Amino acid sequence: MVRVEMKIDVKLLSRICEAPGAPGSEKSIRDLVVAELKGLADKVEIDNMGNVIALKKGRSSAKKTMAAAHMDEIGFIVTHITDEGFVRFNPVGGFDPKTLTSQRVIIHGRKDVPGVMGSKPIHIMQPDERNKAMKLTDYFIDTGMSGDSLRKLVKVGDFITRHSPLMEFGNCVNAKSLDNRASVYVLLECLRVLKKSRRKPAYDFHAAFTVQEEVGLRGANAATLGIQPDFGIGLDTTIAYDVPGSSPQERCTRLGHGAAIKLMDSSVICDYRMIDFMKATAKKAGIKWQPEILSAGGTDTASLQRMVGGGSISGAISVPTRHIHQTIETCDKSDLGACVDLLAACVCGIDKHDWKH
Ligand SMILES: [Zn+2]
Repeated sequence: MVRVEMKIDVKLLSRICEAPGAPGSEKSIRDLVVAELKGLADKVEIDNMGNVIALKKGRSSAKKTMAAAHMDEIGFIVTHITDEGFVRFNPVGGFDPKTLTSQRVIIHGRKDVPGVMGSKPIHIMQPDERNKAMKLTDYFIDTGMSGDSLRKLVKVGDFITRHSPLMEFGNCVNAKSLDNRASVYVLLECLRVLKKSRRKPAYDFHAAFTVQEEVGLRGANAATLGIQPDFGIGLDTTIAYDVPGSSPQERCTRLGHGAAIKLMDSSVICDYRMIDFMKATAKKAGIKWQPEILSAGGTDTASLQRMVGGGSISGAISVPTRHIHQTIETCDKSDLGACVDLLAACVCGIDKHDWKH
């Protein structure tokens, strides 16, 4: 299959991925999103929880469409600083412990302090330890500093994020927090595409950049309660296990095979009308798409569907992602482009569909 090289703003995507934003500590990424929204929306607001909501007025205000992309990334929080200058921590969001070995992290204290995830060297492990899976509690963070100097910069409660600058390879990008900065990029670019092409959303379009998704869709709950949309479009990454050793039923999605139209995940069964609408829209616009059933893991789509009296008509567009919830994650640039195009087409054509049950 020939992959189309899409025009992706890799510099912007890098800045979005590299901005820290553990759940509950999204200020850096939020400031970047607000700056990037300049000129792209009619109104930008930050709610009490820290969600950013950009309103782009539609051709009609009879109904509301809301899209949600979470800004937070899985991270850690400092629980203890040892006298020798090591940091113990709790996870904030679901990590795969085996991928943390000797990875670089940044502790966001009074200043950013770099550190390394340390664990027991294999040479001094007992034979039975060597075959055991690593637990999060087996790790400590080595800061290379003494306890006294570290305590001047870092305290209990400071957040920690992964340190992996974005790298391009093949037609792909690889970085620490593509879950879900890939979708933050997609939502921003959708607004930019609408502005450039002078297309208006069918209905008032509320673009929400949400907080605290990785700890249970918390920001999206509050944002949806505030907006009360008629239509909801979740935007998140999904598993692409299209790698050696996988069987076809395990793949979920494949890189380079287009925007994923979600059928269900463990938090939501997408509305069959929204699925039909998204498929028809992709077909009409010639956008490459693939179906997605994610057996474990939830998304903001669940909040969009349920935090509205009577519910909203909801579905989701997902970005296929390899190595998800590990220290590095990988997306294909052509899939990112397909997601931007599909979201823009859906938002503009949502009044053309028959939504009757
Ligand atoms: Zn996510």
